[in-house]
Amino acid sequence: MNRAAVNPDAGLACYAALQASSRGRRHHEPSHPYRGEFQRDRDRIVHSSAFRRLVYKTQVFVNHEGDLYRTRLTHSLEVSQIARTVARQLGLNEQLVEAICLAHDLGHTPFGHAGQDTLNKCMRDYGGFEHNLQSLRVVDELEDKYASFPGLNLCFETREGILKHCSSRNARKLGEMGKRFLDGEQPGLEAQLVNLADAVAYNHHDVDDGIRAGLLTVEELCSVRLFGDQHEGVRKAYPDISERALIHETVRGMINLIVTDLLDCTRVSLDKVQPVDIDAVRKLPKPLVSFSDAVFEQHQALKSYLHKKLYRHPRVMEMSHRADKVVAGLFAVYFSDPGSMSSEHAVRAAAYAAEQGDAGRARAVADYVAGMTDRYALSAYHRLVDASLEL
Ligand code: MG
Repeated sequence: MNRAAVNPDAGLACYAALQASSRGRRHHEPSHPYRGEFQRDRDRIVHSSAFRRLVYKTQVFVNHEGDLYRTRLTHSLEVSQIARTVARQLGLNEQLVEAICLAHDLGHTPFGHAGQDTLNKCMRDYGGFEHNLQSLRVVDELEDKYASFPGLNLCFETREGILKHCSSRNARKLGEMGKRFLDGEQPGLEAQLVNLADAVAYNHHDVDDGIRAGLLTVEELCSVRLFGDQHEGVRKAYPDISERALIHETVRGMINLIVTDLLDCTRVSLDKVQPVDIDAVRKLPKPLVSFSDAVFEQHQALKSYLHKKLYRHPRVMEMSHRADKVVAGLFAVYFSDPGSMSSEHAVRAAAYAAEQGDAGRARAVADYVAGMTDRYALSAYHRLVDASLEL
């Protein structure tokens, strides 16, 4: 039986990112007989090697600390399911949302933020290092899979969503992709949504992981309203509930509350502004996807609590300090001897150095180190610098 291909824009709202009005790919490609363009983007991301490496990259806890903690991969999946739920309700492009979610952390270094800060310091004289810009670099340049172009050749809207923030200095170098940061424009609603879903996901899973690790206490968390209110409600409704289920029900209630608020608040804004298409969304003075003021305040309070109590906890800081050593040590070794990197990176270092001297060589080293998983970086450090360091 011969059936007409399904229209990928069917059922989407006028303000969604539609395939029909997409700004397209950098390198022209023929369309696929039965997969839409954003579905193809998602599929390319899932098949990329950077995506597979996310499973061994730290979110907050180093991968080998335990099997139950979030990694960059499970974090990306949690972001995706939150954002897809909202996208479907608002008539946004769910496949584009999923593609952006799965790609948003591809540029993260090993060892979470500690790794990124150290790499940025190593690159101080060579243009710096931003993990978010690196995610775009991975999909635009570094994945080496296709015969006729570098990277994954993703659609403009997917790339726009991946690049959440960017310094003006870097924006100027990015041409069309950097323009909105210089002009003060917004990205499409799908990108706005993923940005908030990212924060919702990590705030809540870090509460769960932090309690599990014994770094946060339930008693103290109860002083944070978002947690305290839900905890109290669950405890009253189920007085005999187990400690573990109580925490899970509390976190579940928090996510539900904040996602419902996001949905309701964004619906009201869409109703008021009535953008006719994605370009009208881009020209607005501020993002349309948002929480209510009251819930945003609670969300921020939880975020600053986690900054103080979890991300700066002595045990996390101690791990960060050692991660620092690994990243800086590897950068120094590879920068002085690019031939000791794996062959494709050594070739790239030679090519970049021929064009841009030391800055080019440093960029190739940063690309290599940023792409490493926690355990790969640690074993390279043991081999090349110091076999005795433990994380
Ligand atoms: Mg993230």
